[in-house]
Amino acid sequence: MSQIDETHDPARTSWVESANGHPDFPIQNLPLGVFSAGTREPRIGVAIGDMILDLKGASGAGLLDDHWKLALGLSTLNAWFTHGPDDARELRRKLSTLLSDARFRASVEPHLVRAANAERHLPCDIGDYTDFYVGIHHATNVGRQFRPDNPLLPNYKYVPIGYHGRASSVRVSGQPVVRPKGQRKPPDAEAPDYGPSRRLDYELELGIFIRRGNDLGHTIPIGEAANHIAGYCLLNDWSARDLQAWEYQPLGPFLAKNFLTSISAWVVTAEALAPFRKSMPPRPDGDPAPLPYLLDRADQHSGGLGIELAVTLQTAQMRETGLKPHVLSQGQAAAAMYWSAAQIVTHHASNGCNLQPGDLIGTGTLSTAEDTGLGSLLEISQGGKAPIILPGGETRSFLEDGDELTLFARCTAEGAVPIGFGGCTGRILPAN
Ligand code: MN
Repeated sequence: MSQIDETHDPARTSWVESANGHPDFPIQNLPLGVFSAGTREPRIGVAIGDMILDLKGASGAGLLDDHWKLALGLSTLNAWFTHGPDDARELRRKLSTLLSDARFRASVEPHLVRAANAERHLPCDIGDYTDFYVGIHHATNVGRQFRPDNPLLPNYKYVPIGYHGRASSVRVSGQPVVRPKGQRKPPDAEAPDYGPSRRLDYELELGIFIRRGNDLGHTIPIGEAANHIAGYCLLNDWSARDLQAWEYQPLGPFLAKNFLTSISAWVVTAEALAPFRKSMPPRPDGDPAPLPYLLDRADQHSGGLGIELAVTLQTAQMRETGLKPHVLSQGQAAAAMYWSAAQIVTHHASNGCNLQPGDLIGTGTLSTAEDTGLGSLLEISQGGKAPIILPGGETRSFLEDGDELTLFARCTAEGAVPIGFGGCTGRILPAN
């Protein structure tokens, strides 16, 4: 588990003035990402306030450790993620010093780029993407729509459920969402037809980026799993519910999900999250304990993620009439997750499946037990039975063309400077 050190000191400020009091990127955060500015090739950077520090430039200028130069000079984070947690902590210490100590200002400042002038790219070349289903309230809510008396299947409390998604259609926040087409079969129709999805939805999730992986045939013990996690992002698993309902049996999600997955641009590192760890919520009476290979005292004690999640929706009409985005939900990740990130990673590798640096794992939809903390429209509108009414009078059961949806994540804890993830946003375009 990562520890709290001087980089988390709430008294520490940056000479990059926009960082001090910045809602997402104060000096206590220092998330990693990939950006480009002007005609330059994409490169690795660190968000600090309204600026991005170019790590290729800073490394080339001798401001960082020489043996990091190769990995930090590339255009994705994969090679950096092969470095272990010790190097991750050292890089964070070094960056925190360079950006807080005014003596380094003259040498570091030439490598800062205004974030508003930069384009974001995917942080990693994502070799594999897997989506889990650890949101027990989501699993229960969705299960209830299909099986009112028996919403959770008996394996749920033993096995972290997941499926393999499609890595090549993961895109960075801001990319448009083209409405997918597919086979739709309403329950009362005799046969399906093919056309644009009528039940396009989002899923509020966190993404986990793998640091060092495991060799094929080997496993990742639960006590070591945290060392394999580089960091976290927001993830929107866009979902066509009509396609999903018709296609999902017997092999699970397919075309309803793989047309696009959006992630936020910055990897908030495991080290940055140290002050915001929580204990895993106690399992309800009568639930089985995790099997021994998934049970670790330290993980139970601090494997929970103290991350406040929120979702907003702004329709085309709301934009035109100057109405602010409407908050669809707000809730705590820790309260939504039945399995921890470490349990997810350990389970994924428990059969000898190899995880690799830059692999992306989705948690699954993170709904809390409250009606105000639901992570999909499928749940909020009860499958379309209870449309929501938006400011301006429009109603929504699912997403319409022109709708813009944004996921937010923010961490707060007593004695810590709050940090945020930066949004994960997408606007729906009509089907091609
Ligand atoms: Mn999902």
